[in-house]
Amino acid sequence: MAPTSYQAPTRGDKAERTTYSQSVESNMSHTLTKVSKLLEGKGDAIFSVNVGDTIADVVGVLKDKRIGAVVVTEAGGVMQGILSERDIVRRMADTPGQTLPQSVEDLMTKDVVTCTPDDTLTDVLKRMTEGRFRHMPVLSEGRLCGMITIGDVVNFRLKELEYEALRMKQMIVG
Ligand code: AMP
Repeated sequence: MAPTSYQAPTRGDKAERTTYSQSVESNMSHTLTKVSKLLEGKGDAIFSVNVGDTIADVVGVLKDKRIGAVVVTEAGGVMQGILSERDIVRRMADTPGQTLPQSVEDLMTKDVVTCTPDDTLTDVLKRMTEGRFRHMPVLSEGRLCGMITIGDVVNFRLKELEYEALRMKQMIVG
């Protein structure tokens, strides 16, 4: 049984006791974080190959830069496609021992899904998950300005969560 001093909360009490940390806005604020915010920390490096290059060239770039996909451009720098390690592995299974001399143009994915710096990370994550790919070039006014991966988005969110947990702890402990 509740002690006699206990006062059951009323609707009015609840409204007064709601703090900023409990508001829907603050709890959902991470869903509004934009691609531009992630690029601020990551930088705008984009590793690309040319449509005329070979798979051997791509394998070299993937190894040297420690990345999983490259953007494919034509001589003028305009994006023509994207090629990831997954494409190469599949082709190696189909053409064992004959993959490296093949052309990038023949293997790349031409229909590239892109995002803009103004898109939210939540939206990008959703599109990557639905499309089953892990890389997304970022275009600003039609020009390449970065590349983000599913790993970048997950890491960024983890850091946000750590920060939010620390803030909550500081609020509780003082
Ligand atoms: P990934 O998971 O990024 O290694 O890529 C899996 C498959 O999706 C490969 O066939 C890639 O060429 C393709 N792919 C990767 N990123 C994109 C993208 N942003 N838009 C369209 N296709 C992509």
